[in-house]
Amino acid sequence: MAQTFRVGLGTDLHRLVEPGPLILGNIAIPFEKHALGHSDADALIHAMIDAILGASGGGDIGQLFPDTDEANRGRDSGEMLSIVWGRVRAQGWALGNVDCVVHLQRPKLAPYIPRMVERLSELMAVPPETISIKAKTGEGIGLVGREEAVAAECVVLLVRETDSSCQ
Ligand SMILES: [Zn+2]
Repeated sequence: MAQTFRVGLGTDLHRLVEPGPLILGNIAIPFEKHALGHSDADALIHAMIDAILGASGGGDIGQLFPDTDEANRGRDSGEMLSIVWGRVRAQGWALGNVDCVVHLQRPKLAPYIPRMVERLSELMAVPPETISIKAKTGEGIGLVGREEAVAAECVVLLVRETDSSCQ
């Protein structure tokens, strides 16, 4: 059995507007602003979905969940992640690991990261140790630093067992 590996990269950015809370990693973080978007605007999950789709050759999140579709208005991004991951699993891919960076000036995300990891591992039915989330501020400058936006970047490694005798 040979192993096939694929990496994928996803990024996302959403404008921050009042009021809170802020949805990130499918949990509600107490804050006076929320991320503006057609769905629940979960930048972390959107970046993860694009990374997974990039690795599996499945297009991008905008093709699967267009913002012109009323069904996606206010939609739970955790549900979108479950749908996408279910399809990619059905194509024979398993998760190697996912590593993400969230860019947010405030609030400090460190206290929330364990719950975000736990929630994402539940949604994907993967061990929590395969998911890494790191947080960075915007150092007070730029869109993130001025608290105008939240951004996220993720890389995903997918692994597939292939039977070389069939190739
Ligand atoms: Zn998004």
